[in-house]
Amino acid sequence: MTVAAHKETLSFQAEVSQVLNLVIRSLYSNKEIFLRELISNASDAAEKLRFEALTDDALYEGDALLRIRVSYDADARTVIIADNGIGMSRQEVNDTIGTIASSGTKKFLESLTGDASKDNVLIGQFGVGFYSAFIVADKITLTTRRAGLGAEHGVRWESEGKGDYSIETVEKAQRGTEVTLHLREDESEFLAGYRLRNIISKFSDHIALPIEMLEELYGEDKDKKEPQWEQVNRGTALWQRNKAEIEDEEYNEFYKHIAHDFEAPLLHIHNRVEGNNEYSALLYVPGRAPYDMWDRDPKHGVKLYVRRVFIMDEAEKLMPHYLRFIKGVVDSDDLPLNVSREILQHNKKIDSIRTANTKRVLGELEKLAANDAEKYTRFWKEFGKALKEGPVEDHANREKIAGLLRFASTQGDEQSVSLDAYIERMKEGQEKIYYITAETLAAAKHSPHLEVFKKKGIEVLLMTDRVDEWLMSHLHDYKEKSFQSVAKGELDLGQIGGEEEKQAQEKAAEAHKDLLKRVKDGLGDSVKEVRVSSRLTESPVCLVVEEHDMSANLARVLKQIGQDAPLPKPILEINAEHPLVQRLEGEKDGTRFNELAKILFDQALLAEGGQLDDPAGFVHRLNKLMLSMAG
Ligand code: ADP
Ligand code: MG
Repeated sequence: MTVAAHKETLSFQAEVSQVLNLVIRSLYSNKEIFLRELISNASDAAEKLRFEALTDDALYEGDALLRIRVSYDADARTVIIADNGIGMSRQEVNDTIGTIASSGTKKFLESLTGDASKDNVLIGQFGVGFYSAFIVADKITLTTRRAGLGAEHGVRWESEGKGDYSIETVEKAQRGTEVTLHLREDESEFLAGYRLRNIISKFSDHIALPIEMLEELYGEDKDKKEPQWEQVNRGTALWQRNKAEIEDEEYNEFYKHIAHDFEAPLLHIHNRVEGNNEYSALLYVPGRAPYDMWDRDPKHGVKLYVRRVFIMDEAEKLMPHYLRFIKGVVDSDDLPLNVSREILQHNKKIDSIRTANTKRVLGELEKLAANDAEKYTRFWKEFGKALKEGPVEDHANREKIAGLLRFASTQGDEQSVSLDAYIERMKEGQEKIYYITAETLAAAKHSPHLEVFKKKGIEVLLMTDRVDEWLMSHLHDYKEKSFQSVAKGELDLGQIGGEEEKQAQEKAAEAHKDLLKRVKDGLGDSVKEVRVSSRLTESPVCLVVEEHDMSANLARVLKQIGQDAPLPKPILEINAEHPLVQRLEGEKDGTRFNELAKILFDQALLAEGGQLDDPAGFVHRLNKLMLSMAG
């Protein structure tokens, strides 16, 4: 016993003290949220116990009435939050309270801005909820015992939040956790029943188990009666209640609890489904992308409940991956309570819940886009990149998702053009949706491939997110209009080009046949073909690939992420009208001709953001050319 009981004083992880100071500073104006955070933890602990008890009834220790109790002691200047949930072992206290749970602590510190209003949000996302208690307390004593362990396995943890904490083994008869806040001198306002009740009903009314406080007795009663515990919150699961009776504020507070977010969500979607697969779903689009959205295993997605019992977090089967930012609760009446992740993999009911939820989310986003452009823009900024994975992942909803996408275009740098708006603006006779992919917006905007489109006033979508290449390799058409990369294949402007232009081009090809052959011979294997371009109006040359080849941009992106993709062999297109090309055509000296052709080829590669195989050779040839001009 002596070994286990020994009292240790341990240092917080280096980052914890830093985070603590930040939390205190930036949340001070909102200090009452400490109570929400501690109640939120108590509620989680109750749900964990209920879940574990499904397979081990003994964990209840004869007391299955789960509840949270909040009390205060004006003389001792303490506020106490006690639960009879799962509790913690000594190891768990060390792991969860002495460390900041998320592995992202470092990332978190780096992302802080110093601007309190922004940092508040970040702090919430990183799950430092417990530490918010140090805003009002200069010492916290936490006593806990894990359900199922004997009374001698209690643990007392204590800290003044200044870099270290002590931990010792104590007796604790009652399972669960009791957090005692020793209030700072200025925080006496929390030593009042009405104040605490107010905060609870403001922030924690939706908590689905009773939150109890001792009744306040006045006058004679005070001496005669023993105060009783009374429930001060509503205590029913929010998602079970009638939509019409729920205030936005309540939806928002519930969101903050389940999503561990400090900021209100962008929108909520609440449904009750009857029939042979009965369930309730309360889903949220957060106001901001969670910091771990691009991690392999993002946390806190949609939680699964079965008949009000919490079953699991992050039930990835409930939402497709491209909607992984959706938070919320699904509560099924029909699944078995012992449902496991394995069962979820192949469950028809789950599949149909997922299909329906996906439709609902996409439908709500459509509505948002139609009715509230400003909010939709905010949504797009946060989640657009994830949504772009949708057409690849979710075939059934491809058209619907495509309608939600937004792009930059030759008409504006912001990602704000929908495909419908594009189609609306298409030129008379235009049949295709034109786009270009590039690494940066500047590279896209100034690409030679756009010249003829600019001249003719045809809009081109500018795609510069990495995911765009992937998206476009799966999205072939929208509303019966096919997509066409402006850097691929023979340029076909359909009806806009007109018969005359076509003929003029054929003529030009014929007229410059000799030139094309000489260039091809000079460049040899580095090009697949040399031909007269109809894309160019200002630049002398550009490179394109065949319709079904991988785009040069994609090959470069793959290279950057370490996948060596063979670069597709390009086709060199020549602007026969350009003075440089005419100059080339007039060059009689074979060696000089080849050098000039090589320079033109290299500059075409540079113009589209490519890398030269032999940059020094290019510079050398260019210098030679400049010298010959000077002479
Ligand atoms: P979060 O709730 O986002 O995980 P917190 O800082 O609020 O972050 O809590 C950290 C962890 O401490 C919790 O995940 C939980 O493991 C543990 N914890 C906190 N309060 C309790 C409690 N009342 N009962 C059991 N475990 C708790
Ligand atoms: Mg918490």
